[in-house]
Amino acid sequence: MKTDCIFCRIIAGTAPAEIIYKDEQVSAFLNLNPIAPVHVLIVPVKHIESVNTCEVGDEAVIGHLFTVARLLAVRYGIDQSGYRLIVNTGPDAGQSVFHLHLHLIGGRRISFLVE
Ligand code: AMP
Ligand code: ZN
Repeated sequence: MKTDCIFCRIIAGTAPAEIIYKDEQVSAFLNLNPIAPVHVLIVPVKHIESVNTCEVGDEAVIGHLFTVARLLAVRYGIDQSGYRLIVNTGPDAGQSVFHLHLHLIGGRRISFLVE
């Protein structure tokens, strides 16, 4: 837990968010500024800054992010219509929160580049 990290604070319950999924390893909540009808952020409970700081020991939780993404895609009824999973890393990708997260985006047609 990093007290100056907004996603750590959401996970700890000290910052507000619409949490839609939680287990021991992963939490998921609605994006504050959604770019599509479904825009969920799926995050590891452990504070990992970005893909740049992932370690071999994080592989299980990183894999679990995808399992939760599949589950939520079914829950939101976008598993067949399709969805995009995005992980931004560093300035050129526009990463703004330095706690690893998977964007689950769907419910509309998405052009190739998402800003
Ligand atoms: P990224 O650009 O990949 O770092 O994405 C960070 C995302 O977190 C952005 O899409 C923001 O809209 C979202 N975000 C930032 N703060 C919050 C928050 N407090 N609750 C929910 N989503 C947030
Ligand atoms: Zn964090």
